[in-house]
Amino acid sequence: MRKFTDDTLLVATHNAGKLAEISDLIQPFGVHVIGAAEKGLGEPDETETTFVGNARIKAHSAARASGLPALSDDSGIEILPLDNAPGVYTADWAETENGRDFTMAMNKAHDLLLQSGQERPWKARFCCTLVLAWPDGHDEVFPGTLDGDFVWPMRGKLGHGYDPIFQPDGSDLTFAEMNAAAKNLISHRARAFEKLVANCFA
Ligand code: IMP
Repeated sequence: MRKFTDDTLLVATHNAGKLAEISDLIQPFGVHVIGAAEKGLGEPDETETTFVGNARIKAHSAARASGLPALSDDSGIEILPLDNAPGVYTADWAETENGRDFTMAMNKAHDLLLQSGQERPWKARFCCTLVLAWPDGHDEVFPGTLDGDFVWPMRGKLGHGYDPIFQPDGSDLTFAEMNAAAKNLISHRARAFEKLVANCFA
């Protein structure tokens, strides 16, 4: 397992919510974090059908283009009664001509759940795969998942993406009702992050 020994880490995302969460998680290690937009990097096409495949595309393209070690996150929600959809297409479900609309995407998922005739609770799982890639082509891969329920109606105004419909097992709050610190203690991203830290930063 390769250790991270540089001063600066490029976070290969244009998603402000993810960048903020990853910056918070990495902050204790005294590493300078910059985002892909700050470096003027484009967004590569995510052409793979797995979280790890797409995370690898993003991390390697950013590391090659910037000459810095790059950390990518490919994540999404799997809704079990919908055969694990949207999965790697979680962001795609929110695409509109005018940018991403997550309220629309959550409504779409809810409509499909009603059509499926499946009884509540509707089990769901947030997945995150982190890939740390170096400019020489080496990488390390760390997955994390968190089980919970797809709840309806949406609850909470915090967070990003599908946070208002996800209630982790053992919690009375949705992700969107938790502050960032509380979410960062338990999230799928935090779980993947623990492995990244233990292997590459400790
Ligand atoms: P991608 O990894 O950029 O392809 O997209 C992941 C999608 O999953 C984004 O649209 C996010 O909104 C959603 N997502 C990932 N993690 C979270 C989370 O912690 N909360 C809410 N939505 C998330």
